[in-house]
Amino acid sequence: MHHIKTSYLKSPLPLSNTGRICTPDGYSVAELHTHTVLSDGTQTVEQNLLTAKSRGISVLATTDHDMIQASLTTSEICSNYGVSAVVGSEITTIGQQHILGLFINTCIPIFRRVETTVQAIRSQGGLAIVAHPFLPFPGATNKRRLLNWLEHTTFDGIELDSPYLTNRGREQLLEFYEDHKVALGAPLASSDSHFGNLGAKVTLFPGTDANDLRTAIKMRTTVAATTNVPQLKPNIRDRLHNNYRSLFSLPIYRIKALVTGKYT
Ligand SMILES: [Zn+2]
Ligand SMILES: [Zn+2]
Repeated sequence: MHHIKTSYLKSPLPLSNTGRICTPDGYSVAELHTHTVLSDGTQTVEQNLLTAKSRGISVLATTDHDMIQASLTTSEICSNYGVSAVVGSEITTIGQQHILGLFINTCIPIFRRVETTVQAIRSQGGLAIVAHPFLPFPGATNKRRLLNWLEHTTFDGIELDSPYLTNRGREQLLEFYEDHKVALGAPLASSDSHFGNLGAKVTLFPGTDANDLRTAIKMRTTVAATTNVPQLKPNIRDRLHNNYRSLFSLPIYRIKALVTGKYT
């Protein structure tokens, strides 16, 4: 097998004539950041698994905001789809920025300092990933804040690409990563799929299943990549659903979880 030396593959991975993502020899595709109808997505677990299968994604993580239920379901039924699953969640920290917890088994308390969130993830044997940095959204961290986080913690990985990142933002991020990669961990890329656009940005890893992926993140042998999966523009109904859930339902869920300590 030929090992890829770079952290980020600039030329998009092509699709086969059946729409599957073509991978370099010995590597498989992981999609590690996806949402379902239980948080603010429009797709069910089953729909995401079908899409993952059709695009040749070998490892899928369902990472609903501050929830784990859909991710546990993914893990229970994924073998019916020939897909391997990682249980995870996208956790809201005290400053509203998001951290992905992968390979966890219960929900991580929200609105904590980033280093506390990372500790909680690792105490379950999980891996802590910086979600979609350098996006101009409240859930994303910027350069100044990320530098501040690095004074208090390290990470197991970072998303070097996501669908809303500009070319300029990606260039700055890759530069930042090269300067701080020891503390930032493995290079990953994810689609942050809310509307079924799995596979637009992916993580390549040597091997085939979730265990191999875990080893690859630990060994930092993953590669962030973009693909020729077409970017779906969500229709107005899906966008309204997403807005309603993220601006109304999720904030209420979070306050309840914070008060009662109960997460779903
Ligand atoms: Zn997010
Ligand atoms: Zn997300």
